[in-house]
Amino acid sequence: MKSGKKETNINAIKDISERIVKAGRELHDQGLVKGNSGNISAKIPSTDTFLIKPSGRRMENLKPEELVLVDLQGNKIRGETNVSVETPIHAAIYRARKDVQAVVHTHAPTATAFGIAKTEILPLQIELFMLLPNGVPIVPFKTPGSKALADAVQKKVADHDAVILENHGIVTVGSTIAAACNLNEMVEEAAKIQFLVMMLAGRDAVNLAELKKKFKT
Ligand SMILES: [Zn+2]
Repeated sequence: MKSGKKETNINAIKDISERIVKAGRELHDQGLVKGNSGNISAKIPSTDTFLIKPSGRRMENLKPEELVLVDLQGNKIRGETNVSVETPIHAAIYRARKDVQAVVHTHAPTATAFGIAKTEILPLQIELFMLLPNGVPIVPFKTPGSKALADAVQKKVADHDAVILENHGIVTVGSTIAAACNLNEMVEEAAKIQFLVMMLAGRDAVNLAELKKKFKT
């Protein structure tokens, strides 16, 4: 590697680390993560590597130097800490989606409840419809950290920027860290609104085919 390129990578790693730490605090402040749950990662531009939150650490007090650098197979390249247990999901998404630069996984409570109730989150508001026209599908339950879970998420994320993991949580992706975090927040908000609509008007009040008809006219 030429020294100029190496220098660029060091600067990029520093910059992305700081952005991840800031985003981690925001995810915590929004109530999307509790305890040491959830994880976040971001690609180092123009490389086949990404930085990810270490295992067992709380999102709100991460330090830039604790983040772990891994390759697209999920192997650790640099870092004193252990990688997040869900690293295979992040690596599988980056391998499948070249446009994705950041992945956020949380146990956002309302959206997670939808996964337990086996109810997909629908884009009931026009803003969410623009972002997620097909809603948020559910990936059937697989053991956390397993290759089976990573494979199942990779398949669904091929054409969805947000998915629910049954009896587990949600995963959102984006072309920036801010976009992936924003989508996580929006999916949780959408779940809250859908819950209220279902309480007020019943489960059958929401229907994807009708939404598509309404928003496309
Ligand atoms: Zn999880």
